[in-house]
Amino acid sequence: MRMIPFAFLLIMAWSCQPASGSEEQADKQTAALEEAVPAGRAEYAIAIHGGAGTILKENMAPEKEKAYLEALNAALDIGEHILREGGSSLDAVEQAIIYLENSPLFNAGKGAVFTHEGKNELDASIMDGATRNAGAVGGVTTVKNPILAARAVMEDSKHVLLTGRGAEQFAEEQGLEIVDPEYFYTESRWQSLQRAKAAEEQPTGFLSSGPDHKYGTVGCVALDKAGNITAGTSTGGMTNKRYNRFGDVPVIGAGTYANNATCGVSCTGHGEYFIRYAVAYDISALMEYKGMSLEEATRYVIHDKLLDAGGSGGLIAVDKRGNVSLEFNSPGMYRGYARPGERQVGIYGEE
Ligand code: ASP
Repeated sequence: MRMIPFAFLLIMAWSCQPASGSEEQADKQTAALEEAVPAGRAEYAIAIHGGAGTILKENMAPEKEKAYLEALNAALDIGEHILREGGSSLDAVEQAIIYLENSPLFNAGKGAVFTHEGKNELDASIMDGATRNAGAVGGVTTVKNPILAARAVMEDSKHVLLTGRGAEQFAEEQGLEIVDPEYFYTESRWQSLQRAKAAEEQPTGFLSSGPDHKYGTVGCVALDKAGNITAGTSTGGMTNKRYNRFGDVPVIGAGTYANNATCGVSCTGHGEYFIRYAVAYDISALMEYKGMSLEEATRYVIHDKLLDAGGSGGLIAVDKRGNVSLEFNSPGMYRGYARPGERQVGIYGEE
């Protein structure tokens, strides 16, 4: 199940949600906000991804599968807690992504893939659907949590996208945590680089691709009780990338987009295609100009447009009513979503 309409699951959601006495106080605090939630809209919704690619059950060790599912659930817990308490989608997205960046399982922050030169160059972006403000960083090597740098660019600079040393300097000035580039080293990503370099001997281009390719970008989209949508994405890019390449992640409208009037979107996949097809913005535009539903727009872009073009990957999206879409044209995508009383995480196709 990849498209999850809110209305359909509303009754089930209520029956699954145990009344908890210990949460009484929080319930009272948020009662005013709940009253403001329009009929037919989820009180809040959150979706996350941890990358798409050739992720197959037969190649996955059970303990690794368990670790991924636990990490996805933990990130959802963090974001959902903020939303349930009446916090902003900006904070929910930021905090869920920080958790995923700090996990070595994903290609973002700690666990980022290596460039051809053996470095970790990180990209991240965030967009506020209420104001259409956005911030992004590209190619940073010392910022522990690039999503925080993206948010700082959005809130504390006049710019949208800062790159390289300038972005690092800005992050330092903002008081963000700076780490030695060594912090991002993980043995498994280092080995992936060695395999990608060996595969390069039979050239398929300078970027890693092929049957064992996995994109591990992380992303989160949330709708809060006030009706504000935020989307954010963070990545190490693609293994063996060169020439200070960055993909769709720091490009607003390609890897990340949010508009309260339509939806929020965070993508993962072969970034060059997501840039050329302005994928995240395209979903919003199809809803805005063609009146498509979130399901129609996401299915069309991922399974028709992008697949026809040869672009592999997926996206997560949440619309203004709290409908959730988790679409991918690759064999798998680490993903999950939560709404009041509802939770689902998944890895493979056709679950
Ligand atoms: N989209 C990212 C990029 O091209 C890669 C990914 O999704 O893992 O940089």
